Amino acid sequence: MRNSSRTPALALLAAAVLLAVPACGKEGTPPPKGPDQGALPTYQVNEAANVPDSPTWRNAKERGRLIVGTKADQPYVAQQDPATGYYSGFDIEIAKMIAADLGFGVDRIEFKSIASANRETAIQNGQVDYYAGTYTINDNRKKSVGFAGPYYMAGQSLLVRKDEDGINGPQDLDGKKVCSAAGSTPYQRLQKDYPKVKLIGYDSYSVCVDNLISLQVDAVSTDDTILMGYAAKVPDQLKLAGQPFSQEPYGIGVPRGDRAFRLAVDDAIEKHQANGDWKRAYDATLGLSGVPAPTPPPIDRY
Ligand code: GLU
Repeated sequence: MRNSSRTPALALLAAAVLLAVPACGKEGTPPPKGPDQGALPTYQVNEAANVPDSPTWRNAKERGRLIVGTKADQPYVAQQDPATGYYSGFDIEIAKMIAADLGFGVDRIEFKSIASANRETAIQNGQVDYYAGTYTINDNRKKSVGFAGPYYMAGQSLLVRKDEDGINGPQDLDGKKVCSAAGSTPYQRLQKDYPKVKLIGYDSYSVCVDNLISLQVDAVSTDDTILMGYAAKVPDQLKLAGQPFSQEPYGIGVPRGDRAFRLAVDDAIEKHQANGDWKRAYDATLGLSGVPAPTPPPIDRY
């Protein structure tokens, strides 16, 4: 769902982020442009990689590059710098680790921004080889796509303006305007379990945040990981409210029938968790929003 105020509203968010830039010298304030490149791990490419039973892998090999779906507007998780086109964040690092084990260096990954509502279709149509972008594993989605992982456990939460003291959890949302991304699990949960919420859906969360800053909605709801990133960008204006009220296990979306590919991705995630890359990547990205690295959930090979 879009509305005509989209462009000016986005400009407002950009202005809010720019206004926050002078504060970046303050101790503990994250850099405005995303992770420090020097702090990011590099992943050794397995030139001998071979997944002969995987049509997805064989296609990518023939093409000479991997196409990876992700988000473009989620700070510290998956964000594209509009000036350079460069993608950064925790999910981008996870995507790179996997690519390296499949035999593709960073110069042979093409990232594509795909909105929450369009992920299953993009995977089913072969628009992407895999998807890494705050993608919750659930049974409903498993009817359309496969999931490697989980590689992280998030939880649905609420983002409000700094001066808001009436919203401390989903129980306080009756009659309030709450914004989320269409097709996301947080949107679906609010719709089903909190029917008195005035729910507003956009393609992406940054438009919701923009609407929160400009007083058009009372809260934004999605995973804590995503909301922490927005709050860390403008800590004078936004804060998280209450405790997470769901479990969102993040998976790598893959073509449903390609079991060999899914298991190869599982192996890659497991290897990089064991060798410390996962934690190094977390510390250099999501960890910048202030929460120490948790223990990742166990891989579910099905
Ligand atoms: N993890 C949730 C989901 O997959 C919310 C985040 C998102 O929309 O990417 O629906």
